Amino acid sequence: MLLTISTNRVPATDLGYLLHKHPERHQCFSMTFGSASVFYPEANAERCTAALLLDVDPVGLVRGKSKSDDRPLEQYVNDRPYVASSFLSVALAKVFSTALSGRCKDRPELAETPIPLTVNLSVLPCRGGEKFLRQMFEPLGYHVVAKSLILDAQFPEWGASPYFSVELQNTIRLADLLSHLYVLIPVLDDDKHYWIGDDEIEKLFRHGEGWLNAHPARGKIADRYLKRQRRLTRIAVAQLTAADNIDDAIEVSHQEEEEVVERRISLNQQRLESVMDVLKASNPKRVVDLGCGEGKLLQLLLKESAIEQITGVDVSHSALEIATERLQIDRLSPAQQSRIQLIQSSLIYRDSRLTGFDAAAVIEVIEHLDLDRLAAFERVLFEFIRPKIAIVTTPNIEYNVRFENLPTGKFRHRDHRFEWTRAEFQTWANGVAERFGFTVEFRCVGTEDLEVGSPTQMAIFTIRTALKPRAGWEEAFAKMAEQHDDVLLDE
Ligand code: SAH
Repeated sequence: MLLTISTNRVPATDLGYLLHKHPERHQCFSMTFGSASVFYPEANAERCTAALLLDVDPVGLVRGKSKSDDRPLEQYVNDRPYVASSFLSVALAKVFSTALSGRCKDRPELAETPIPLTVNLSVLPCRGGEKFLRQMFEPLGYHVVAKSLILDAQFPEWGASPYFSVELQNTIRLADLLSHLYVLIPVLDDDKHYWIGDDEIEKLFRHGEGWLNAHPARGKIADRYLKRQRRLTRIAVAQLTAADNIDDAIEVSHQEEEEVVERRISLNQQRLESVMDVLKASNPKRVVDLGCGEGKLLQLLLKESAIEQITGVDVSHSALEIATERLQIDRLSPAQQSRIQLIQSSLIYRDSRLTGFDAAAVIEVIEHLDLDRLAAFERVLFEFIRPKIAIVTTPNIEYNVRFENLPTGKFRHRDHRFEWTRAEFQTWANGVAERFGFTVEFRCVGTEDLEVGSPTQMAIFTIRTALKPRAGWEEAFAKMAEQHDDVLLDE
């Protein structure tokens, strides 16, 4: 990963004073994730360019960490060594700490002077595309030139990648430029390699001093910088804007969209409580949360010491990352760590890791599955996992008319493939119970409306017979599982 900073302000070699790095020396700095080098590809009176070369060691990063259960290669083979990310921000803060703080021992007046500077970032991931990139830098006075990088030059039909090669030009104090890069690079990448704690707000304010407050996208910046941790974002945005309508300033992340529609703080809470009540009553030892999302239910399950094994499954890598942070898995004692397991997997495939559960929760997930995939999911849950009890919740579409901010005919979330009436849900659940040997009982979640029912509907399936699998079935399955990690159903 290469970042260069150039100036043509004569004498251009003043850049060396400002960065506290001598143009004739090549310096190397050891970082926890690899190394950073500073050198000057050109240094003369007319033009001077300083380069920061980051060498991220993917193997070193993994060393000492607990192994991820899934996609073992991804931790070694990923884009991190090649792109500008939070690693670059950390390197900037270490290697150019004096320049970032605005100090310059030899030429203090120079540090205070706006000078023409050009930054080149060889590969910058921009979640949100070029428009978002411009939204970040243009209000700060930068001239932005962005070149979209295609995914693979050999296969142009695969189209564009999320990466850009970017040039930024501005006449600006070097310290300001560095603080813009420090904050905005991870915001554009929309990822961070380290745990986000409360002290991140302090860092954001320190490096955002003098510009973030006035930035039109400050809400989005804070939200992404703090990795969409809503509690932290709210605190930061409240301080930045002193605004009444904090929610307007915060970018509503994908997962939060539904929360906004449902004013879900309370509905979500009620749903989790209802699920926990049913689960606890069945006294399970091993619980699986299918489509666990960001891990809110897992967090409650962990508090129940009678539950010995808790497994969260989700197809979304980023949701599982957030769950890992929410649960602070790295900080749990080894005994607690061994109780919890997160698995990236799709619910429409059998997965040999998902056996031996007493209870399964499938909370607000089925509506994310294509209707023609539902049959495959039913077999995975009721035939393969076959828990003693399964709790399934889904929105009640009849209730949607009661949501003031949901346009008529719209689902509660853009990823919902369907939403069902009470009759549709009950027909489905009764059919499933009948076919797979379960009884089913229905409950309302949230305040019940006389006309349209409750916002969330819940089905509780209880096993009738612990059906023995057909003879030879387990062996056949084990053989298949040896050949494939996941065994495909119905395909
Ligand atoms: N149960 C959580 C999350 C609900 S959002 C809660 O109540 O907060 C729906 C979740 O289902 C998302 O996290 C999504 O990634 C996951 N999901 C959607 N399709 C899936 C599939 N085929 N396999 C596994 N998870 C899936």
